[in-house]
Amino acid sequence: MTGTRGTGGATARAVAGGRAAPAAGGWAAVAAEIARTAGVRARRDEPLSRYTTMRVGGPADLLAVAHDAVQLAALVRFARGAGLPHVVIGRGSNLIVSDAGIRGLAILSRAEGCRVEGNRLIAEAGVPLARAATLAQRAGLAGLEFGLAIPGTVGGAVWANAGAHGSDVAAVLESARILRGDGTEADEPAAALGLAYRDSRLKHPAGQGSALWADAASAAGLSAPAEIVLAVSFGLAPADPVAIKVRIDEIRRWRREHQPLNLPSAGSIFRNPPGDSAGRLIDAARLKGARVGGAAISERHANFIVNDRGATAVDVRRLAEIARAEVARRFGVELVYEVQFMGDWSDWQQEER
Ligand SMILES: Cc1cc2nc3c(=O)[nH]c(=O)nc-3n(C[C@H](O)[C@H](O)[C@H](O)COP(=O)(O)OP(=O)(O)OC[C@H]3O[C@@H](n4cnc5c(N)ncnc54)[C@H](O)[C@@H]3O)c2cc1C
Repeated sequence: MTGTRGTGGATARAVAGGRAAPAAGGWAAVAAEIARTAGVRARRDEPLSRYTTMRVGGPADLLAVAHDAVQLAALVRFARGAGLPHVVIGRGSNLIVSDAGIRGLAILSRAEGCRVEGNRLIAEAGVPLARAATLAQRAGLAGLEFGLAIPGTVGGAVWANAGAHGSDVAAVLESARILRGDGTEADEPAAALGLAYRDSRLKHPAGQGSALWADAASAAGLSAPAEIVLAVSFGLAPADPVAIKVRIDEIRRWRREHQPLNLPSAGSIFRNPPGDSAGRLIDAARLKGARVGGAAISERHANFIVNDRGATAVDVRRLAEIARAEVARRFGVELVYEVQFMGDWSDWQQEER
């Protein structure tokens, strides 16, 4: 499929075969249009390994950083209007970006406005959840302490319904400002977002795919986000800041003891199967320390793959597939990925190191 879109002097098109190609004027013209319409300078061929916690991922054709929610919405609207394949990346802490990288536009969410209003913490999508937790603690508001364990943004945390230490986003989210697939914005109550164990409505864009930008994205092998979180409101409970700090320090200590935080990773690779833990199963399959190239299954936490020797994205994926196959063979349990594979993975199984 070759898609073009005529709004706002469209400059990009998606080309069948998984390539996004700029029309006349090339990527420089697309970048100029982004600067004009969204007020953001886009960079060419920026390696995404710099923006993922696993430290893997090839270049994005273009990368643009949104410094507030208005820019975030403007960049997404621009990409949709131009039929330009695009992705939104928060802190890249739940992503394995392919070695081939991202064709089209990667939008980096660094919208970091944040304020406390009464018992609410209102944060733009790019605020790191750990920072939100600390700000809430200083304001004497309890409920977000678990956020200290999660090195992602508020927007990525809603997408995943991220959680830890007995709580999750669903427990504290009041509402989210959403940029919908049709271009409108709405404040949606948390109850409407389909939050469940590491899941949300945002992960399931079914029914929103008729827009041309979504077709273009799928032609280029991308998972374009159909709905974007622009900002959120957390409803918290007043509490003694000292007591909240004690809880935060406990969580910090627990993480240091149980997770390989000194090495690049993407957190838990697999979801926990019902009634069990993916880490326990991988450990029982004797895979701690197993490696492919520069990637290894952590000795400290078997559901973490760490990049300790300059891994490629393919190393990480091959190792994860070995763990998945071995757990299925030994225990009959089909592990499901918690991380998202982003970018062009069309020929990863053919590649040999
Ligand atoms: C060491 C480590 C520990 C971790 N521990 C935990 C844990 O305890 N619990 C847990 O739940 N997770 C954990 N994670 C995983 C990860 O931090 C969370 O899933 C986090 O919510 C991802 O946020 P992010 O901003 O990094 O999203 P990214 O990884 O950048 O993106 C993930 C997805 O979210 C989408 N997205 C990002 N921003 C937006 C937005 N504004 N609107 C719509 N979609 C958006 C992206 O398009 C992508 O599809 C851990 C990760 C690491 C590296």
